[in-house]
Amino acid sequence: MSQGNMIQMDEVQFNKFGEPYIERWIPSRPKWMKHYGEIHRCIRCSMDFFYYKEKKGEGKYCSQRCFQLDRSKKEFDSIQPKLYSGNIDWHYVAGFFDGEGCISWHQGETCQAKFTQNDRTVLLELQKFLLSYGIKSGMSTPHTTRAPASDLYLSNIFGIEKFLLYILDYAIVKKKSIMEALERIEMVTL
Ligand SMILES: [Zn+2]
Repeated sequence: MSQGNMIQMDEVQFNKFGEPYIERWIPSRPKWMKHYGEIHRCIRCSMDFFYYKEKKGEGKYCSQRCFQLDRSKKEFDSIQPKLYSGNIDWHYVAGFFDGEGCISWHQGETCQAKFTQNDRTVLLELQKFLLSYGIKSGMSTPHTTRAPASDLYLSNIFGIEKFLLYILDYAIVKKKSIMEALERIEMVTL
């Protein structure tokens, strides 16, 4: 792991040689302990942060969040679009999402867009269509034998953003919630 320690610059002090350190209260001693480190610049958000010298790793990211967002972006960018020759288009996808889709958030930071359907062939076709635009999705197994619905879900935040931007103009029922989700995604990925 190469993310930082989530120590931002306002906690950092410098000794008379200009070496950066932070002080931590150790309750078991009890006393203040100095930890020396280096000032690094996050490769994602360009923010400076304190990085413990004794920490293993490269110290590229200021936080777990930047590490994950960068990984998520790389994963999204690495998807190769494919040719699609079926009948689905963005109008259809927007209508489908209006009826059978939902957007959910987890801990305010990560989100998922989901289609739920009994007919897996429709979901598989939709999956192919989305991939032709470089949007990767996963498919759940049927929920139960009594309620044999499956989910097609998108969980990469950059993929979800692209997907929502494509359907925004055609969506009717969920237009408002799509716009809200896009705003929230913009805030989260800043
Ligand atoms: Zn950062």
